[in-house]
Amino acid sequence: MANLKIKSSAQTAKKSNATAGRKPTVKSLYSKADLEEIFRRFSIQRPEPKGELEHVNPFTLVVAVALSAQATDAGVNKATRALFAIADTPQKMLDLGEERIREYIKTIGLYRNKAKNVVALSEKLITDFGGEVPRTREELMTLPGVGRKTANVVLSMAFGQATMAVDTHIFRIANRLLLAPGKTPDEVEQRLMKIIPDQYLYHAHHWLILHGRYCCKARKPECERCVIADLCRSPEKTWDIPAPLVELPAQIIGTQAGA
Ligand code: SF4
Repeated sequence: MANLKIKSSAQTAKKSNATAGRKPTVKSLYSKADLEEIFRRFSIQRPEPKGELEHVNPFTLVVAVALSAQATDAGVNKATRALFAIADTPQKMLDLGEERIREYIKTIGLYRNKAKNVVALSEKLITDFGGEVPRTREELMTLPGVGRKTANVVLSMAFGQATMAVDTHIFRIANRLLLAPGKTPDEVEQRLMKIIPDQYLYHAHHWLILHGRYCCKARKPECERCVIADLCRSPEKTWDIPAPLVELPAQIIGTQAGA
């Protein structure tokens, strides 16, 4: 990490003003060609990556993402299937009430507090946003239980905006591969947004999560199965021959969802 020179946000902001419309340059351990190749390979493996949290509209997506903090997607899906079948709007959620919401989500960690937040965010959506999910990060982050990561997921999955919601997998990969090292998720988010080639930015978030979940795993990366093993600069890498580049079997949303 020592030989990485990444500009401070202040410097970057200055540069971005000076070069409006162009991506500010961030020096990375990876060349532009390497970055293009890494994301090209991810795009072949998973041409249409999808998030694994089940939802039926933007509102249920906000709720699902808020519930997923410190819980697995699979665990959240299991609980929300029945909940969303009867409450898929802020008003229906309020009508259901905190106590019954708690019953539906009691298998999810921190469920008491999360049930409170679901009620509070439903209320706020009705009073401040006419019952609709807002489309800006700033507005989304005014909702109880919604932080920057949740807002980024919603902007991407519900509204098609290119964002980088840094979860545990992305944070690990960015640092492990020295791709966009940073001490905080915000730092990693800013750096990834700058180095990822534009044409891959929209799907990059899901590619990195799925790569982390199924290949570059937390305890032990499975480098023999990795399609970027030759390009990876991680000191933890155990193999440097890339795995065959083929499209992976279709994701089965909800049944493969992991942490
Ligand atoms: S080679 Fe290993 S450490 Fe590098 S990205 Fe692949 S799985 Fe992760």
